[in-house]
Amino acid sequence: MNNIDFLKVLGLEDLNPGVSTGNDWILTANEIESISPVDGKRIGTVRIASPEDYESVIKTAEEAFPEWRKLPAPKRGDIIRQMADAFRKYKQELGTLISYEMGKSLQEGLGEVQEVIDVCDFASGLSRQIYGLTMHSERPDHRMYEQYHPLGIVGVITAFNFPAAVWAWNTMLALVCGDVAVWKPSHKVLLTAVACQKIAGRVLKENNVPEGVCSLICGANELGETMAKDKRIPLISATGSTAMGRKVAVAVGERLGKTLLELGGNNAIIITENADLTIALHASVFGAIGTAGQRCTTTRRLIIHSSIFEEFKIKLLNAYKQVKIGNPLLEGIHMGPLIDQSAVQHYLNALDDCKEQGAQFTVEGGVLEGTGYESGCYVKPCIVEVKPDFPIVQKETFAPLLYIMEYDTLAEAIGIQNGVSQGLSSGIISLNLRETELFLSSAGSDCGIANVNIGTSGAEIGGAFGGEKDSGGGRESGSDSWKAYMRRQTNTINYGTGLPLAQGIKFDF
Ligand code: NAD
Repeated sequence: MNNIDFLKVLGLEDLNPGVSTGNDWILTANEIESISPVDGKRIGTVRIASPEDYESVIKTAEEAFPEWRKLPAPKRGDIIRQMADAFRKYKQELGTLISYEMGKSLQEGLGEVQEVIDVCDFASGLSRQIYGLTMHSERPDHRMYEQYHPLGIVGVITAFNFPAAVWAWNTMLALVCGDVAVWKPSHKVLLTAVACQKIAGRVLKENNVPEGVCSLICGANELGETMAKDKRIPLISATGSTAMGRKVAVAVGERLGKTLLELGGNNAIIITENADLTIALHASVFGAIGTAGQRCTTTRRLIIHSSIFEEFKIKLLNAYKQVKIGNPLLEGIHMGPLIDQSAVQHYLNALDDCKEQGAQFTVEGGVLEGTGYESGCYVKPCIVEVKPDFPIVQKETFAPLLYIMEYDTLAEAIGIQNGVSQGLSSGIISLNLRETELFLSSAGSDCGIANVNIGTSGAEIGGAFGGEKDSGGGRESGSDSWKAYMRRQTNTINYGTGLPLAQGIKFDF
């Protein structure tokens, strides 16, 4: 990568501080290097937090909370609106950094910054719509209503695959709700986090927002563990693997804190005999190889009606022959690298498991070598014919590995679709109303996201995003997801002269 101007524009140095309370940065001692999976080169280094730095960040956030919550919500929303403008200004450079540091295509990197902008706009509008309900009291001369108050510090722990968007989904909503946020990004994509914090920090400073409203704290998994145990953080919103979510749930649950968990998926598309096969093909291929299979909503399983199974398999095979794998910053490339060599090893282990369990390879996998693939992180997307109950099919392998399987009746297909422990995203491709409505009914998909004539991958910020079962149960982004960032209070007011008790209870003395 010769052209590194985008790093300068984003204010990134060779060695960057990685702990900030807003616009101020704390100079720490230990460091983590950021290596690009695109070309294997070091992009820069980020200094990570010590336990003392952590204490200092949490203390500053605690002090900032009473100030920030006092600011009227629409005023907070206006500051978030300015953040949207700041991210618009840096869209090209930040999108390029995301692509170079994480390995997704430039188009997806730019799309991720657009998500940051969109959620800022959403949160800004939301700042005037934080509504509670009013209820009729059963007692005379009484009024009853509910209101939502901010929680305090929201700990935001994010995964490597959406290094900016998931921070924004959480932080922008938390901030308009009157909370303060402390972000611990994945240690695999720290430069993107530093760049986001710099953009946001400048807006906060311009608005004289106290330090501690929006903090960044870089470190490895242990830092996330410290946050999960910290009683001063009433809500931990954690995005990542199911294994991580289980640990966070235990640690936060033990102190009776709140969690918002966005975890792994094992997403399927059902392709019925009434499907538009062109839509089915596009949905399947984009869903399986987009972001090199490293989206939580990646299509991992295709459940195909037996009458079209062979025909569709040939279509998939032909489509996969045309997939261009290489530097994701170049135009026309469909698939970039995996995040690092340990991800490549997981992918190779999964291929071995497939073979051991008797799967048939429709498209063979493997690691790419030679010019352009020097980082060792580029792999071939592959398609494997399996039985639904193979142990490997139950697991999320975070790579472009697509399982295909046959079904005869829709009830059987829905059973296969729901028969895994995860429940994030699902889709059905069918032009038959009876089929699609059954899929969306209570007897249909058990996932948090269920689509018709759309694949599993990607989502709009206006809807509540999240999954059931091992996918965590949390909801983020649009709809009424903001409620997770607030505490609900029911208020009853007596404006009469007596004190009638509820349920007509008499208590005379
Ligand atoms: P990961 O679980 O390894 O790490 C995610 C984050 O959790 C990182 O910041 C990490 O440092 C932190 N962490 C790890 N162990 C922890 C612990 N014990 N306590 C506290 N924090 C801890 O995940 P990853 O490899 O970065 O991301 C890939 C995974 O994330 C996939 O499973 C994917 O499906 C999932 N994901 C889910 C969503 C969603 O919205 N459902 C979105 C993106 C990614």
